[in-house]
Amino acid sequence: MSIAPIGIFGGTFDPIHFGHLRLAEEMLELASLSQIRFIPVGTPSHRVKPAVSAHHRCEMLRLAIAEQPGFVFDEREVRRVVACYTVDSLRELRAELGTAQPLCLLMGGDAFLKLNTWKAWEQLFDLAHIVVGYRPGFTLAEHIAASAIHSHYRERLCTAATLSQMPAGGIVELAIPKLEISATDIRQRVAENRTIRYLLPNTVASYIYQHHLYKPC
Ligand code: ATP
Repeated sequence: MSIAPIGIFGGTFDPIHFGHLRLAEEMLELASLSQIRFIPVGTPSHRVKPAVSAHHRCEMLRLAIAEQPGFVFDEREVRRVVACYTVDSLRELRAELGTAQPLCLLMGGDAFLKLNTWKAWEQLFDLAHIVVGYRPGFTLAEHIAASAIHSHYRERLCTAATLSQMPAGGIVELAIPKLEISATDIRQRVAENRTIRYLLPNTVASYIYQHHLYKPC
């Protein structure tokens, strides 16, 4: 049986930018996903505290994805008061969507290479596929050779066409040019009164200025 997979894209989105949106857009197409759920983290478990509140990060995310019906805002992690982990969100989604629905956890190559630092990371493969965007010309294989993920990578690597055939357990690499955009750089630019035009949607830039976000106190 073949069921169109659903993509799950978690991040701090502090703020969301065209690097995130292009990655998601390319994955929607290349992995034939029916939709992508954008899940902003609430209290990040393995990262520094976000610069702005979950409310602002969610509003910026809503504005950024408003015109793409395939992108869906999912606020489950910001509703939690305790530290949130991807494995818990995936368990919830699996319970809601059923055992047959293919789920794909989407991430950039940088995040994938640190996967073994995530809570219960090996259980992620029981709950979802992992779809990794990597720069063309850059081979993930050589970067993870010495890491704990290596044996999973070797055993689970498959093609995008397989994602709809099973609910979880595969690793798919997609060559997607990475835009040289980071939320850290955007925050720094705002703090220094430098331009952020063409790095993120205009609606998000306007929201940042309107609410005086990322300015030093
Ligand atoms: P920060 O600069 O605050 O660390 P970030 O821009 O890297 O933030 P995150 O919210 O941490 O954004 O990223 C969420 C996901 O998006 C991660 O899987 C990351 O690999 C991916 N990602 C971030 N920036 C890009 C980009 N420019 N191109 C492709 N993927 C990206």
